[in-house]
Amino acid sequence: MAIELSLPPEVHELTERTRDFIRERVLPLEDAHDGDIAAAGGDRFRVELQQAAREAGVFAPHAPVEYGGHGLGMSDRAPVFEEAGYSLFGPTALNIAAPDEGNVHMLAHIANPEQKQQYLAPLAHGDVRSAFAMTEPAPGAGSDPSALATRAVRADGGWRINGRKWFITGADGAGFFIIMARTSGEPGQRGGATMFLAPADTPGIRVGRHLDTLDRSMVGGHCEVFFEDLLVPDAAVLGEVDRGFEYAQVRLGPARMTHVMRWLGAARRGHDVAVAHVARREGFGSRLGDLGMVQKMIADNEIDIAATRALLTRACWELDRGEPAANATSIAKTFAAEAIFRIVDRSMQMCGGLGVSGDLPLARLSREVRPFRIYDGPSEVHRWAIAKRAVGAAKRALRDAE
Ligand SMILES: Cc1cc2nc3c(=O)[nH]c(=O)nc-3n(C[C@H](O)[C@H](O)[C@H](O)COP(=O)(O)OP(=O)(O)OC[C@H]3O[C@@H](n4cnc5c(N)ncnc54)[C@H](O)[C@@H]3O)c2cc1C
Repeated sequence: MAIELSLPPEVHELTERTRDFIRERVLPLEDAHDGDIAAAGGDRFRVELQQAAREAGVFAPHAPVEYGGHGLGMSDRAPVFEEAGYSLFGPTALNIAAPDEGNVHMLAHIANPEQKQQYLAPLAHGDVRSAFAMTEPAPGAGSDPSALATRAVRADGGWRINGRKWFITGADGAGFFIIMARTSGEPGQRGGATMFLAPADTPGIRVGRHLDTLDRSMVGGHCEVFFEDLLVPDAAVLGEVDRGFEYAQVRLGPARMTHVMRWLGAARRGHDVAVAHVARREGFGSRLGDLGMVQKMIADNEIDIAATRALLTRACWELDRGEPAANATSIAKTFAAEAIFRIVDRSMQMCGGLGVSGDLPLARLSREVRPFRIYDGPSEVHRWAIAKRAVGAAKRALRDAE
């Protein structure tokens, strides 16, 4: 099998342009606002950033070409998204922040032509934002999606939806919602979920409080959302009834990997800041960067960065071949979420007091990357899935040998 690691020239060029745009235009704004996008101006700021990205020719690398994007596949997205992630505001500038980027991907694969016109086109162009509403307070869906409790029942000409969601990223100010609701079966049963599309101003959708999570870089916060006798027509069904969990996988595999790409960029910034610091700072008769234990932290960061990239490359390769890549994305996501946190944590340590201060970006990077070990599947759930596959394969092999 040939292994090709060099980038096509147009991807290499876009990666370089993204790097320059992020460092010259976006990083100074992130630093000026301590990575807090609401403080920077929220949606108004997003619109300005995205206009600057359009002018720099780096906007929407992921979106299909017919919707104004660069149409990059997963492997080609990786270096571009990593450069965008070098700034916490970079993904928003390029319109590749969660959840919009994952929603573009899913709509491009599943929506019908009318839905693409109504929802995908304005989302890809950055005219609106979107939200993906799956998680519910206990005893509803969380790590275990089969606990889905939000219900959609047949109503005249469509569906009536009732339920409560939370941690819904971007809900405040979103133009539309993708809602996961149960159309058959009972909570605890696999299957029976359907995805619905609904404009945010549809009566029956109410955005509640923002949950005060650690992070500050995502526009629209992470909100509670209530669906109270929300009436949607049959045309609101995304794909087919009762296939929602299946479609969630179409979104989640790639979305996990694009999170890895973006957060890897953020971790690399942390590492670069720390290495520059220890190369300069003197102590105990040498530079800190010449001391063995500091060098160990630097080397471990380099190893974590390289290993994350390698696992990402493998998973993206499988996804680009049209494979589900369930195991490869679980492995890459779990390793990356933990490695990225370690990289940022070591980088803080190397910078001493400055590392946990507002003078360097490390403390803010740390608060942004920590939740990644929880969303898109907690590490424990991925480990459980990886182990189940391994044990399942071993049991099958034993049976075959009997
Ligand atoms: C910043 C942020 C943004 C988010 N954005 C969205 C969004 O836009 N849309 C959306 O729908 N949801 C979103 N979520 C929710 C996220 O998907 C859930 O938090 C996640 O699925 C975990 O569910 P839970 O919080 O209910 O935890 P629980 O399911 O209650 O799990 C709690 C913990 O139990 C452990 N655990 C669970 N299952 C197992 C197992 N099988 N084996 C071992 N241990 C286990 C894990 O350590 C886990 O962290 C977001 C969350 C955060 C923090």
